[in-house]
Amino acid sequence: MTHTAEIISVGTELLLGNIANTDARDISQMLSEIGINVYFHTVVGDNPERLKAAVAVARSRADILITTGGLGPTCDDLTKQTLAEVFGKKLIFDEKEAQEIRDYFANRLHSHRMTDNNYRQAMLPEGCTVFHNDCGTAPGCAFEAEGVHVLMLPGPPGECVPMFRSCAMPYLRRLSDLELRSHNIHIFGLGESYVEDKLRELMVRLENPTLAPYAKQGEVRLRVTARARTDEEAERLMAPVIAEIREKIGTCIYGIDTDSLENTVLMLLKEKHVTLAAAESCTGGLVSKRMTDLPGASQVYLGGAVTYAPESKTAVLGVPADIIEHDGVVSSSVAEAMAQGVRTRFESDLGIGITGIAGPSSDESGTPVGTVFVSLATHRAVYTRKLHLGHDRDRVRVTASSHALDMVRRYLTGADVESWES
Ligand code: ATP
Ligand code: MG
Repeated sequence: MTHTAEIISVGTELLLGNIANTDARDISQMLSEIGINVYFHTVVGDNPERLKAAVAVARSRADILITTGGLGPTCDDLTKQTLAEVFGKKLIFDEKEAQEIRDYFANRLHSHRMTDNNYRQAMLPEGCTVFHNDCGTAPGCAFEAEGVHVLMLPGPPGECVPMFRSCAMPYLRRLSDLELRSHNIHIFGLGESYVEDKLRELMVRLENPTLAPYAKQGEVRLRVTARARTDEEAERLMAPVIAEIREKIGTCIYGIDTDSLENTVLMLLKEKHVTLAAAESCTGGLVSKRMTDLPGASQVYLGGAVTYAPESKTAVLGVPADIIEHDGVVSSSVAEAMAQGVRTRFESDLGIGITGIAGPSSDESGTPVGTVFVSLATHRAVYTRKLHLGHDRDRVRVTASSHALDMVRRYLTGADVESWES
């Protein structure tokens, strides 16, 4: 059976716009990890009558109700009392939780005095599963009544999110005897709409596993999720779908369940015993940053040079001044000379050269903003991509660095280096 959850966030400060509803966002993300659908987020103030009305609507369209907020000790914290009343549950004093709250005050909040109303937090619906709060005092809880599961979590994100992960997720997982398993397919070089268009028929046809695309920082990911009784069965269901996607998307897939493009590049460099260095202008060292973010990269990533001014390209990399003069600093010949220069100077097998205009305004040559040349020099050849990456400075820089990494990946896997749309 598939489950549907509705998140009811309680708090007048949410309605007033004083804070953003990050709890609902974070819980939704975690629910999608375990395959539970969310069709509605509801926000309601600290008012028992309106909370009751929200619960009445929610239970008509979801079988899991998750509340956030209003579990604290003050008189506007009414979630537990209201939900218990709606579902005919008595609130019972939980001595174990009361002791936990006492201990929390003694050990963690030396400066705070515990008051009687703190004990209200130890009043919990009869027969509930208690979600212990490792990061604060108010425990959360869950119970089943009248065909719905009710889960209540505290409002502060620092308490709500860890409690959801450590207590609510295992509770919800137990509701289904089917395990969910998924694989993430990472794609670079194709837009989200193009990928969706190529796979639409497959997405509509599939029920188990399901296929969902999402865009992330100039890349597209596809999540394939299967429900099955065992891991093996889930893998068996997913294998033909992944094969079909591979066939349709081809070499633009840079990895499955990999962390990042740079991670794939690092693994390939190590596997093939190939070294790399990068000369960067408009990306300001992003390739170097992305490579050196990975532990163990020094075996294969020898280093980089950020040569921003034209003179530095000449002084540090040996880019001939007359090429810069004649072709302009943003040109394929300069990117190629940078790639070759850094390769020679670092004595690496491969060299990257990146020059472009990240914006927001163009230079005196009139080259449009977002024009970037990325080159890859090898012992035998130099490959270059001319890119038009739009007007958003951050996006231009990140995407240009991704193209550089993608060229290395394609070179090392024997794919066409200069084209990127398979
Ligand atoms: P407390 O014990 O702190 O009173 P509580 O469970 O009663 O916790 P609330 O009183 O509703 O929770 O909210 C406490 C604080 O937590 C709010 O002032 C706000 O900063 C934060 N908060 C509450 N709900 C949310 C939410 N949905 N998203 C993000 N932050 C929230
Ligand atoms: Mg409160």
